[in-house]
Order: sequence, then structure tokens, then C-alpha cells
Amino acid sequence: MIEDIIAGGAKALGIALPEGALEKYGQFIDALMAANREFNLTAIETPEDAARLHILDSLGLLNAIGKEAGSIIDIGTGGGLPGVALKIARPEAKITLLDATEKKIEFLSELTSKLGIPCICVAGRAEELGRKREFREKYDCAVSRAVARLAVLCELSLPMVKVGGRFLAMKAADSDREIEEAKNAIETLGGKISGIETYNIPGTGIPRRVVVVEKIAPTPEKYPRRWAAVTKRTL
Ligand code: SAH
Repeated sequence: MIEDIIAGGAKALGIALPEGALEKYGQFIDALMAANREFNLTAIETPEDAARLHILDSLGLLNAIGKEAGSIIDIGTGGGLPGVALKIARPEAKITLLDATEKKIEFLSELTSKLGIPCICVAGRAEELGRKREFREKYDCAVSRAVARLAVLCELSLPMVKVGGRFLAMKAADSDREIEEAKNAIETLGGKISGIETYNIPGTGIPRRVVVVEKIAPTPEKYPRRWAAVTKRTL
């Protein structure tokens, strides 16, 4: 059932999955459901809903990422979304899963080694790591879903993206105002919106957006600021 939902949905999105991917998605969903009983990883309760609203939603991002995935960091990955879903579909991509909550990263570290999909799992705050040399301007692509409003998210993400790379924010279809409000932040941080891609999550009719922010100039050194400033004095 789960495997049928994902296979059909991937096809509808025009995405070819590697061998063994469906089984891995099944195991990922089982692990999410089991972990959810212990600690709150996701609000989604049935495996069928998780297949659509987590896995297929994340796969919708792949068309915006394109064939040359390169190095990708998932900022505020939570239970591994979209990062783990992307890694299963594109095993050759180098994926870093970042979250501020240590126990979520422990869960992901165990899960990804069990599934044989090696990811770099990092516990830490994006606004702190973005100031460190190992993370600053190191990724071809940053991705994020359901972490913060776009202006805040750009200050967390763009510092980690290489000049010439991109930040892809997964957003709801009704995000016009949020995008408008983020324009100043994007420009200040060295970015430029190069497009907005849309898709429907197969089997749900839910419209989704990927806001594509290109990094066209280095981020000024004073960003990212501390969390209180990032959220209270949004750029
Ligand atoms: N992307 C996942 C989880 C969303 S919940 C999904 O779509 O299901 C938001 C997650 O972002 C939480 O796990 C939280 O710990 C993390 N987070 C929030 N602010 C963060 C920050 N500044 N740095 C790193 N992670 C952060």
C-alpha cells in the first residue's frame, strides 16, 4: 500500500527511483511512526499520510534540485524531511542533516546507518554553525521545510550556501506575502529569487511551492546574527 502510493506518486512527479528505494521508504516511515510514539517527530499519524505528506512532498523538491545534486544541507530536518527522503532517491548526493534537537539527530544517525544511506548528521543551531568556517559557504544547495518564515530562514540558510549555489525553501501555495516580506533579507544576504516552482502532492491535490533563491554574492560577515535578533529584528 505504502509502496504503491510512493511508486505511483513518484511517477506522477516524473521522478525515477533507484532500486530498493521503495523498501527504504517503507522502513523510514515505520521508524518515524515508532519514534513518534516516543517523542514528537511529526504531526502526521498514519503511514499513508506520511507517504504522501512527507515522502511525496519531499520528492516534489527533486525537480527543482535537478540531476546534479552535489552537496546539500537540510536545515531543521526534524525527523529527516526532506533530507532522508532525498538521500533515498539520490544516493549519490552528499547530504547533511542539521537540527537543533540532539535526540532527533541521534534518531537520524541510527536510522541512516540502518538503512545504509550515509548522511552527515549534525546537532546544532543553524545561526551558530553558519558563522563557522566548516559550514560557511560550503554547500551547493540548502533545503528546508516547515522551520521558519522565509526571511528568517534565509538568514539561517544563505550563509552556508556557496556563491553560485541555491537555497530551496519548501512553502505552501499561499506564500506570496511571506515571499514579499523576505525580499529585503534575501538581497542583504547575497541572494536573489530566481524562480518559484509549483507542484501538487500526488494523491492529495495539495499545491506546494519551492522558492528558489540563488546565491549571487557572499553573505556579509555580520550575518547570521543571534537567534533573538534574527527573529525580532527580521531583515
Ligand atoms: N523539516 C522537518 C521538521 C520541521 S519542525 C519537517 O518538515 O518535518 C522544525 C525543526 O527545525 C525542529 O526539529 C527544530 O528543532 C528545528 N530548528 C528550529 N530552529 C532551528 C535552528 N535555528 N537551527 C537548527 N534547527 C532548528
